[in-house]
Amino acid sequence: MTRLYLLLLALCLPFAARAQEGERPPVTILISIDGFRADYLDRGITPHLSRLAAEGARGKLRPSFPTKTFPNHYAMVTGKRPDKHGIVGNNMIDPRRPGEKFSLGDPKQSLDPFWWDQAEPAWVTAEKAGVRSATMFWPGSEVAIGGTRPADWLRYDRHVGYEQRIATILDWMRRPAAIRPAFVTLYFEAVDDAGHRFGPDSAEVNAAIADVDGRIGKLVAGLADLGQPARLLIVADHGMRATDESRVIQLADLIDLASIIAVETGPYAAIEPAAGTDDRVAQVLLKPHAHMTCYRREELPKQLHYGRNPRVAAIICIAGPGWSILAGPPWPVKGGAHGYDNRDPEMLALFIAHGSGLSGDVGTVDNIEVYPLLMALLGVPPLASDAAGVLAQRRR
Ligand code: AMP
Ligand code: ZN
Ligand code: ZN
Repeated sequence: MTRLYLLLLALCLPFAARAQEGERPPVTILISIDGFRADYLDRGITPHLSRLAAEGARGKLRPSFPTKTFPNHYAMVTGKRPDKHGIVGNNMIDPRRPGEKFSLGDPKQSLDPFWWDQAEPAWVTAEKAGVRSATMFWPGSEVAIGGTRPADWLRYDRHVGYEQRIATILDWMRRPAAIRPAFVTLYFEAVDDAGHRFGPDSAEVNAAIADVDGRIGKLVAGLADLGQPARLLIVADHGMRATDESRVIQLADLIDLASIIAVETGPYAAIEPAAGTDDRVAQVLLKPHAHMTCYRREELPKQLHYGRNPRVAAIICIAGPGWSILAGPPWPVKGGAHGYDNRDPEMLALFIAHGSGLSGDVGTVDNIEVYPLLMALLGVPPLASDAAGVLAQRRR
């Protein structure tokens, strides 16, 4: 009797396991390919991404100003523009912390919740709602924002190989249901790296695009092998524009560098007078220049939605297309850069949604619109944001 029972059980087990797998709730995976300009998708070198776009939806994300990595990654997971969410640059200062500077490469500052707590990112809201999150890198995900981190997170390390990043996510999905994440992020830096070093039209950028495309193909195949349904949002934070040595504005040619603090330089510059009372800096910089326009932060064009946060420097200068604003010893400018006006078509970024209820070409949308769509997929009510919900409302 017992033997018969055991035999029956052995026969049924595989079916039981499969039935359980069939009930796997879908995971939502937010993938960022840093610096993947929207039109890279038309280069004919992305079989996996192109298939996902054809089966699902594609569009172009208009980044928020400044078109830099940290401000835009945080915009997509909060629905707020940088002025509101407080990560106003990759580099920034705060009048409440005189003498200190946030910089994406300085963990002492970049991991301090002080800089991040003007907004609540999707994974924090999700965790609070009982939706388990796991981040394979995302700016802010290593920080205890409002005291909460994703259930699984890793310190950003560019040396963690892409194979390992994918394997880690697949391992998460192999876990028992109770500790399996429902929201996952994944980040790739290679396309941005190659864009900076070699320019957007280089063979190196194409090689990086093809590599990342293959990795995403592996992820999709791995999920299918597990029988794990997934909704994929594949985004980029900004595009990339070719720069070169012939298009350089040296601030030293306009003003003695000792009189300014250049918080950020490049396609845009964030400048504080070294002495708060020094109006000479503004007088010099606000004059018309051939290849850059400078504004007092209170007078920035409205459509940039930038300048009200006290972390925005007193003067913001925006370079013309392909130009670079530098302060200090010149170094060779080559390759590519981003940070320009967010209306620059070369700053537009990738958007693909697969399994999300969206289909076709969704056109050009502000990247803050990713947030309500993401929250809808997670089934978690979104917090108040700057987004209108145009992507979320198009779902069927
Ligand atoms: P950007 O030049 O604005 O595109 O910055 C891109 C760089 O940001 C990449 O080269 C990454 O190494 C870096 N980065 C991305 N995510 C993080 C993170 N979570 N922490 C620190 N640095 C990061
Ligand atoms: Zn970036
Ligand atoms: Zn970059």
